[in-house]
Parts: sequence; structure tokens; C-alpha cells
Amino acid sequence: MKKPFKPLFKTAAVAFSALVMLCGFCLTGHDAEIKADAASRVDLNYLMNKFPDGKYWNHVGKKGNNADGYTDKPCHHALSGGLYRPVGTCNSFYGIQCWGFVNKLANECYGTANHSSWPRTTLSKLKPGDAIRFKHNSHSIFVTGVDGEIVTYGECNGNYSDCKIRWNVQTTKSQIARSLTAVYSAPSELIVNLSNRSAIQKNEISFGEKVYIQGSAIGGDSKYQYQFSVKKPSEKNFGIVQKFSSSDRCSYFPWTKGSYKVKVTVRDGSGKTSDKILDFNVSADEVVNKSKINRKAIRFGENISFSFDADGGTKCYQYRIRALKPTETEYAVIKNFSRDSSFSYHPWESGIYRIKVDAKDGSGTIRVKEFTFTVKADKLKNKTTASAGSIVYGEDITFDLAAAGGTSGYVYEIKMIKPGSRNYVTLRNYRSGKEFVYHPWEKGEYQFKVTVRDLSYHISTVLVKVNVTE
Ligand SMILES: [Zn+2]
Repeated sequence: MKKPFKPLFKTAAVAFSALVMLCGFCLTGHDAEIKADAASRVDLNYLMNKFPDGKYWNHVGKKGNNADGYTDKPCHHALSGGLYRPVGTCNSFYGIQCWGFVNKLANECYGTANHSSWPRTTLSKLKPGDAIRFKHNSHSIFVTGVDGEIVTYGECNGNYSDCKIRWNVQTTKSQIARSLTAVYSAPSELIVNLSNRSAIQKNEISFGEKVYIQGSAIGGDSKYQYQFSVKKPSEKNFGIVQKFSSSDRCSYFPWTKGSYKVKVTVRDGSGKTSDKILDFNVSADEVVNKSKINRKAIRFGENISFSFDADGGTKCYQYRIRALKPTETEYAVIKNFSRDSSFSYHPWESGIYRIKVDAKDGSGTIRVKEFTFTVKADKLKNKTTASAGSIVYGEDITFDLAAAGGTSGYVYEIKMIKPGSRNYVTLRNYRSGKEFVYHPWEKGEYQFKVTVRDLSYHISTVLVKVNVTE
């Protein structure tokens, strides 16, 4: 009962009889033969599927009566003198609106015509399948469940204005008793098989939103328990997110974008189960890589810093850095994917570095941002000296290996031309070290070529002549 209509029945008692006439049904009882032990021919789920909740039992936009169908459009019953008067779009089945709808449901279940022919009964003997006339003889409903005091029903035109179909409406026997006209006893109890009617709040959500799943069931043994499972976009199987419990609601936060499936399993008091699979999709904005580099040029020995940031897509970003070093031809990973928000890098070469920062969102989408920076170094200078310009035969020649500038990590190569020879002989390959000692076995002029090489493969060479005398 909607609020605006309450005063109508509280105050204008005179209107009740008028309403009866306006609703166009007949209460005269000519009881038909009824097989009291016959099972209903269809089950409640069939009725709820045939006449969906929220649709309208009418023929708005259609040519004629539409008793076996429904539309998406409400009737607009004329409100006149405080009463709703039927309009030409209402359906009829041995009566119109609520009465006709109950007749139609009863007919689907039991094959009967006007349910007014059913025997009368009392609220204490109420069972699913029965029809009730109440609200001071203004409304008829079809009973779908009785659980102690609680009565569940289906109806049409509950607000008198539009012929809307509603299921699973609940009230109490004592509430009904206050305005009861008659209870009509169905030939048998309506079959109500366990049916899972769970639903999801929204099928399309944006990343960052939660999804809410409402477990719901009818029929069977009504001590329901619900279990919720989710199949993520990248997975093959459902994973339980909420185990069997009497809680009929589950909220779930999806961590990635994509299409999900939810399985709601309802288990009734007798152990029967029924699954319902629901879908939802998580959409996300394009991933934008907003990472930055702190400088465009540094001096050798300094560090370069990266700060990582991204937007859009699905949160939980990870970042990786790849670098093409001045002396290399291919990018190499210098920092693998992690959730770190910054990284400080020490380059060991001079020249131009090319950098790719990869931002990966929670669903694996990667957006690359490229940078270059230059490492400037002083010119490499070989400062190697030998012990003296000349030594006496029998002594050693000692080299002090030294360099400056360039990109440290110096290594030295030493070659020599002996007295009387024209060709260099390699005394030592590139190696690090601070001193090199050579013992000459001949007299005369030795010529040494000392080459220093840094990490950037710059080289610098010095020639050292040493005369070995008597
Ligand atoms: Zn109508």
C-alpha cells in the first residue's frame, strides 16, 4: 500500500463499494468442481518468468487484450474523484487488473476460470496458490508463500495506478486480517521448487568500485544459505569469496578490469542447491604513464633519478626500467618490475643513455615512456709515469699507472719495443692496477706504450722511453 492512497481507505469508507464496481470483477460464487488433491500444473518460477517482476500486465501500445503477456509500459489509470478508474489499456481475464491477474495465475496453475468459484477458507489454513481479497475489497493478491505469520504474494496493480507486476511482496496475516474480504482456497498447494533468484547490483562498473551481489531464493525448504564465488578475467575456475552462510549479501572489490563471473550457490534446508551465474564487467580508463626523470644531463659520478607514476587502467601499478647504454646496441633491463615509486641509477659510462620506463597496470597493460640523458665526463687523461728516464742495468723499471677524467674503472695495457727491435710486444693486457714492474735484460733504449681505457671505452695513451745504461 503506497502512502498517497492510505487516506482514501481510512476516511472514505463510502468509496469501497464504488471501488469494487470500478475494478470490474464479479464476486458471485458459483463454485466449480475442484480436485482438491491435484498438484499445481506449473511451479512458481514458471509464473515469475512468464510475468516478470516490474513489467506491466496490460496492452499499452498493443491492439487488444494481452492476458498471456506483458509490456514495459505502465497504464495511466484516470484519477477521478479520489478513485482510479480503469482505462482501455488494462488486460482482462475473467475480470481486469488485480483480479484478472490473479485469475490468470490461477488458470496457469489449476486450469480454473474465475477464482471466485474456489471455496472460501481462512487465513489460518492459508497455503501457496490461494487468492486473497483485502484492503476493504479493493485489491486481490496471489499467495506464493506462507511462513508462520509471514505471507508472500504476487500481484498486479498494487498501487491502483499502472498495472505493474510485483512478486515476493510480503505482509503479515494480522495485517491482512484488518481489511480482509475473502480467502479463496486453491485446489492444491502451489508447487514452489527451489529457485535461485540472486542478482547483481550493476553489470558495468568502473575500476575502483565495489560490486554488490544480492543472494535471493524462493521455494524449497526456506532455511537458505548462500555461497559466493568469483571467476576473474584471467582465471579458468571460480574461487570462493564468501562461504556458505545465512548472509545473503556479498560485496567484492575487483582488482583488475575485464569480464568477471559470479556464481551464487543457494542451499536450502533440505540440502538442495541451485546455482546462478551472474556477469559483471570492470572498465577502466586508458593507462597513462606519468613517470619522470630528474635531469637531462649529469656529470660522471652522479646519479640520475626516476620517479614513477601512472594513472588510469587498474591500480596496483608496477614499473620497470630498460636502458640503452652509450656503448651497447640493445636495451637491457636495469630495474625489473616492482611497486617502488622511485629509483636512483648510477651510470658507469659517459655519453647518451636512452631509457624506457614501462608502467604496467593491474591488468597487465603496459605503457612505455621514453627518456634520454647525457653523462658528461672530463676528457680521459693518462697520467702514467715510469720510474726514471734512465736506469742502470740490473734495476727494474717501475710504472705508476694513473689516469684522470673519463668514466673511471681504468684498465691499462702495456706494450714495449726492445732496443734494436721495431715491433711492439704486449707485456700485459688491459687490467686494473696501480703499478707495473719490468725487468730489462738488455741495455739500450726501451720504448713503452701505456694505454688506459675507461668504462666508456675511451682510451688515452702515453709513450715512455727508458734508457738502460751500464
Ligand atoms: Zn491498467
